[in-house]
Amino acid sequence: MSRKLRLLIVEDESHLAAGLKLNFSLEDYEVDIAETGREAARLLASPTRYAAIILDVMLPDLDGFALCRRLRSAGNYTPVIMLTARDSSEDRVEGLEAGADDYLVKPFHLDELLARVRSQIRRADWDQRRGGPSSDHEVIRFGRAVIDMSTLEAQVAGQAVHLTRLEFDLIRYLAMNAGRVVSRKELLEKVWKLRNYPNTRTVDNFIARLRRHFEPEAAKPIHFVSVRGAGYKFVPDANDA
Ligand code: CA
Repeated sequence: MSRKLRLLIVEDESHLAAGLKLNFSLEDYEVDIAETGREAARLLASPTRYAAIILDVMLPDLDGFALCRRLRSAGNYTPVIMLTARDSSEDRVEGLEAGADDYLVKPFHLDELLARVRSQIRRADWDQRRGGPSSDHEVIRFGRAVIDMSTLEAQVAGQAVHLTRLEFDLIRYLAMNAGRVVSRKELLEKVWKLRNYPNTRTVDNFIARLRRHFEPEAAKPIHFVSVRGAGYKFVPDANDA
């Protein structure tokens, strides 16, 4: 019985895909390659379990963003490391919005990709082990929401809510700063790790998503409150607003 971890590499440049396969095999991974988005979707629909997916953005058919979005909306939370040819903040943001866990710009150093894959697998492994003896149970509660940051599970009135890693990170940052107004710029720097990024709309899009999940009435937010001209304020207890 093989206990090797299996990776899926989605990359249409055959020589690059073959090189990655060779190197990951030497690191003791099993590797499948898909050269199109469609082939990747087929493999991902099969019972094969992947420890991580290395996903090129530019594919001949379905692009990597669309594939990642599709995966997440189907409830598949396998770690995704995206590869892109362009070092643009727009791509990074789009990748993270699509639900990718990490992001690497081509050309990259193989060692860095290996390290990132390892770290994503380790993190996913921790996330699965609920409340082991050494895990610190960080639970954020507000309204009817219960968000367990150690298991990355969220519920509203007992119903599970699926969030991306970035949505968890955003909630955590807002909760750490509850009651204080945080600017979009600060959120981009602290949560998205983007400096001097001009498009603050991406923050608004994410706040809108959190409101849809967690506000009793998304149009009348009481927890994720807008402060005009300043940013957002997280208010755990609506009575304190
Ligand atoms: Ca490509």
